[in-house]
Amino acid sequence: MGVNQGYRSFLSYVTLPSQSFGESGIITHKTVVMEKRVYIETYGCQMNEHDTERILRLLAGSHYLETKDAQEADLILINTCSVREKPEHKVYSALGRYKWLKEKRGAIIGVAGCVAQQEGDRLLDRVPYLDMVIGTHAIPMLPQLLQKIEFFGQRICETGFDPEGNYLKTILPQKPLDKVKSYVTIMQGCDHFCSYCIVPYVRGREKSRSSREIIEEVRHLAEMGVKEIFLLGQNVNSYGKGLEEEINFPKLLRRINEIEGLQRIRFTTSHPKDLSEELIQAFSKLPKLCEHIHLPFQSGSDKILKAMHRGYTKDSYLEKIDRLKEVCPFIAVTSDVIVGFPGEEEKDFEETLDLIRKVRFDDLFSFKYSPRKGTRAAQFTDKVEEKVKQDRLSILQEIQGGITLQKNQEIEGRVEEVLVEGWSKQSEKDITGRTRTNKIVNFEGDLELVGKLVPVQITKAYPHSLRGEIVPTHCRLQDVDCGVKSSEILT
Ligand code: SAM
Ligand code: SF4
Repeated sequence: MGVNQGYRSFLSYVTLPSQSFGESGIITHKTVVMEKRVYIETYGCQMNEHDTERILRLLAGSHYLETKDAQEADLILINTCSVREKPEHKVYSALGRYKWLKEKRGAIIGVAGCVAQQEGDRLLDRVPYLDMVIGTHAIPMLPQLLQKIEFFGQRICETGFDPEGNYLKTILPQKPLDKVKSYVTIMQGCDHFCSYCIVPYVRGREKSRSSREIIEEVRHLAEMGVKEIFLLGQNVNSYGKGLEEEINFPKLLRRINEIEGLQRIRFTTSHPKDLSEELIQAFSKLPKLCEHIHLPFQSGSDKILKAMHRGYTKDSYLEKIDRLKEVCPFIAVTSDVIVGFPGEEEKDFEETLDLIRKVRFDDLFSFKYSPRKGTRAAQFTDKVEEKVKQDRLSILQEIQGGITLQKNQEIEGRVEEVLVEGWSKQSEKDITGRTRTNKIVNFEGDLELVGKLVPVQITKAYPHSLRGEIVPTHCRLQDVDCGVKSSEILT
């Protein structure tokens, strides 16, 4: 039995005298449901951030409101990632930090996400004050699982995979967490089994949501004022596989593009092998689809790509990039790369640098290879020394840092359509937003512009952001060629 048995449910549902004694003079009673607080710490990618959002939507129905202060929480959840080693270790230190809240306040403590899926019961054994381990498919069961803990003090581990895909069911928000942009999952899991990657083991096989549910959710968000939708999936290009309806990802994009009120569509992640001509064409045909693609390449060496089981070569990757740039000349391309994969020699690393120089990515997420238990690459013996990995990472990041700055400088002087998101983190006078190419722009302005598309002239480029000035109203009729599709600016 857990420490917090029973008494929480007593605190949460208190029977109080009703406001009046009634005509009979008899005291009637009514049950007042006390609101509780949930604090969620999230590690990992957008997929995990969105899972956190879904958990909050779900728990709102069980009278749990979000708090940003763990000390006042009745429920503390750590939503985890195990794609690389670092975030995995963070889970244990986070659990250590919250132990005293269990002792002092009887808070329920749970671990969700990829580490939960991977470790299961081992986590409960290792952390005696942990109440709950919730795998990636168990999110919709959370309210029932919480009741078991609250009423019966059980410790729970729920890590089964659900072949029916109930974990993808729509959980509509009562109000959006962010009024400007929102994530929408279109599929989960992955069938690719890249040799280094834990995702297929912790998120299960590819499963797509029905287009009807996706459209309904996007429409609902747009009606609540959300302007930008970020479609999520481990490999969005395979969207539709296994569904009864005749649909693929470009078709889904076309239907979302028609939703009234919505102004921008983004998506991640695309697998280069499955990037079709139809999807490339969508960048020139769909006005709401933003000119940005995240297309992880992982390595520039054909030998390493083969060992990674990626299914493409350096040349075929470069061909896809050329095609994207032909169809959409101002498209921003970002990517992921891994250095120090087993067997990576100096000449393989040089191929990776060559690819980076050829593509000139707008930005790049670069990682040192970290072996993941259970994956094929974890068995490979020709490991690269840690110091070599670190040196290669530093060289690569320096080269990419220069390219990112140059790419940003190329935009100086141009007018960009910016969707305003809120106050800038850098200055109290500034607001911030993103270009269609997903670059952050800070500029002087009023909070009334939040949620609006405004034309901003870029005045200065920095490594991670841009500075700009709103184009004054009287200049707005000028036909400024900013290279991107002009949509309804200032709507
Ligand atoms: N589905 C996406 C794709 O195939 O491009 C990527 C998803 S993965 C969650 C995000 C990134 O983490 C990968 O693109 C890869 O660069 C990195 N990654 C995954 N496994 C890794 C590992 N074992 N070591 C280092 N980086 C890894
Ligand atoms: Fe992992 Fe490869 Fe699937 Fe991406 S495509 S999630 S890297 S297995």
